[in-house]
Amino acid sequence: MDFSGKTAVVTGGANGIGLAAARALTAGGAQVWIFDLERSPEIAAEFAGRACAVDVTSRASLDAAFTQAGAPDILIANAGIGSEADLTATSRELWDRTIAVNLTGVFHTVQAAAERMKPRRRGAIVITASTNSYDGEAWLSAYNASKAGLLGILHTAANELGPHQIRVNAVCPGLIRTRLTERHFSDPSVLKDYFRHIPLGRGGEAEEVGNAIAFLASDLASYITGAALLVDGGQMATKFGVWREEVAEFSNAQWRLRRE
Ligand code: NDP
Repeated sequence: MDFSGKTAVVTGGANGIGLAAARALTAGGAQVWIFDLERSPEIAAEFAGRACAVDVTSRASLDAAFTQAGAPDILIANAGIGSEADLTATSRELWDRTIAVNLTGVFHTVQAAAERMKPRRRGAIVITASTNSYDGEAWLSAYNASKAGLLGILHTAANELGPHQIRVNAVCPGLIRTRLTERHFSDPSVLKDYFRHIPLGRGGEAEEVGNAIAFLASDLASYITGAALLVDGGQMATKFGVWREEVAEFSNAQWRLRRE
């Protein structure tokens, strides 16, 4: 994938999936700007000083960073937080914070980037949604609502920005090993049951999502817009799971078929 001569902005790019996407874009020759809550010295050094302290819930904070970075060719709207609570125990504060970062934050980011891309009649936007944009998972009402809402932004923005030659797509990751999901990955018994429902038999790595994001941002995806790409090891394709002890074993966080 060739990103030479292109400028990219990645929100939430200091960690996890965002950082992996930023590295994939950099490997293709893009000048990548990291917009994240904190401006860590290590990240600033890795991206040659192109790191801004940004809170995506604040349009003013985003505008200040875009003024510094200039109009982007590529935007990865990725910043997001997890929030877990029973529906009846979900406080107004938890709901508001989750929607503010995961949904309104993407709205602000896409709007700010689109305003700068439109006059140039080019651009590629990738939103990090989730498999939870589609299905239910208990104790995640606010998170799931925010991620379902992103599909509304995706489809509408693809309609409005297509005529300006700006493509808008999303990735929908399944369970990916990052800080956000550390808790799941540190419990092998949870993983064994969880990964029964993943045809590839394992969780995903941030780089595997970063590569999908880079593909959608690249010219290789020049006729793709309005698409939501599942990056989930097949999880959304299965109803009852595929892994059975009769033919397979679970070790090192992965289901594998036994040798005959
Ligand atoms: P991480 O927590 O590893 O990274 C998220 C990054 O976003 C952090 O650097 C965080 O900063 C930053 N961030 C949080 N809030 C804001 C904000 N208000 N403004 C700017 N930056 C912010 O999580 P992941 O890499 O796992 O998640 C990235 C995206 O992928 C999220 O949208 C998440 O919902 C989505 N996703 C993740 C999945 C997974 O299994 N990991 C599955 C499906 C979707 P700080 O470090 O300061 O908190």
